[in-house]
Formats: sequence, C-alpha cells, structure tokens
Amino acid sequence: MSDTVSTVALDRWIRRFALLVAENKDELTDLDAAIGDGDHGANMDRGMRAVVAALDGTTPTTASAMFNKVGMTLVSTVGGASGPLFGTFFLRVGASFSDTAEVTLAQLAEGLRAGLDGIVARGKAEAGDKTMYDALAPAVNALEVAVSEGLEKADALEAALAAAEGGRDATTPMLARKGRASYLGERSIGHQDPGATTVALLIAAAARAPL
Ligand code: ADP
Ligand code: MG
Repeated sequence: MSDTVSTVALDRWIRRFALLVAENKDELTDLDAAIGDGDHGANMDRGMRAVVAALDGTTPTTASAMFNKVGMTLVSTVGGASGPLFGTFFLRVGASFSDTAEVTLAQLAEGLRAGLDGIVARGKAEAGDKTMYDALAPAVNALEVAVSEGLEKADALEAALAAAEGGRDATTPMLARKGRASYLGERSIGHQDPGATTVALLIAAAARAPL
C-alpha cells in the first residue's frame, strides 16, 4: 500500500538524517555559537554517528524497536539540551507504534505528535520560544492535515517539510525564552535557532529519502 512506511524505509530516513547532520555540522555549530555555546553541530553529529553504528550492529525489525534504539542511543551519547530532547522525541515516537514491521502514514503522524508532546513534557517550550518546537510543531500539524485530506505520502511529507522550514525561518526574529539562548535576551533576536534547523533536516530527510 502506498500510504505505509516500512521499517527499512524508516531506517533509511534516520541514516539520511545522520548524513544531513554531518553535512551541516559546521552550520549548526555556527548557529549555536551565535546564541548558545557552539556545540549543537558536534552534539548531534556525535549522536547520529552513534545511532548509525547501533543500527549497523543489529537491524531492528519493527518501527517501534527502531525508534527506541535511536532514542536510547541519543539519550546516552548526547549531552546538553538537545540529547535528552531529541532522545525523548524518538523514544516517544517508538512507544506510540505497536510491534509491526510497517506503519501507516496516519500512524507516523500520530507518532510524531507523541514525540512532540514528549519534547514539551521535558522542555516546557511553547510556540514562539525560539526552539526546536517552532519547526516541529508546524511540521506535525501539516502532516496531520495532509493525512486528513488523504494526500499521497510524498506530498504529505513535502507539506511537512515546507512547514518545518517555514517554522525554522520564523525563529530568526524571535526572542529566545528557553535554553541557553534565553540568557541573551534581546541579543538572541536576529539569529536562526540551531535546534529548529536540525528539525528541518530531520523532516527533509523523510521527504527526500523518500519514505
Ligand atoms: P545546549 O543548549 O545544552 O548547548 P544544544 O546546543 O545541543 O544544547 O541544543 C540547543 C537547542 O536546543 C536550541 O537551539 C533549542 O532548539 C533546543 N532547546 C533548548 N532548550 C529547549 C527547551 N526547553 N525545549 C525545546 N527545545 C529546547
Ligand atoms: Mg549548545
């Protein structure tokens, strides 16, 4: 069926995300150097390399087990704010799936919603705080709308990507209210949020893989 996503495709998505993080490591670091401590690119690259190594070690056979492995690996290899936040995200995505080898697009949207809720539960970010939430929330909303409208998988992911990129770009004029960037107050204005930038890469990896 065209609206299902196999564990193999999800594995491809995560590996492509790791590749995009590696390719954009310096940009992520520069963004974090402007409003944080300059470790976001290195943090995410270290974490995603560990994720790829873990996936190479054993190939999970269910979507649930795969995201659980991704989340566990990120939590245990990435420090700072983003490790626990992205780790929690993937753990919640995994926990929302039943033990099946494939998920439907609707289940994927539900999983991403659960992951977003996990980020909020942990980090308490709200819309407009200039965090990863500001790219992820619009992406999840767009995916849910696309599913309800019965869009094809590729079109639905494309809509989610446009929303994530729009959300990422919208962080630039925001004043940071969470994380290290919030210490800068007004001086955080005019800089794109690194975590939101990483979220856009995550959704780009899904749309470009393609799933
Ligand atoms: P640290 O800030 O500990 O150095 P990173 O640099 O790896 O961690 O990650 C910074 C990113 O984490 C920010 O760009 C922002 O998107 C995200 N972030 C920080 N605090 C929160 C929070 N409370 N909720 C959601 N995202 C957050
Ligand atoms: Mg940092």
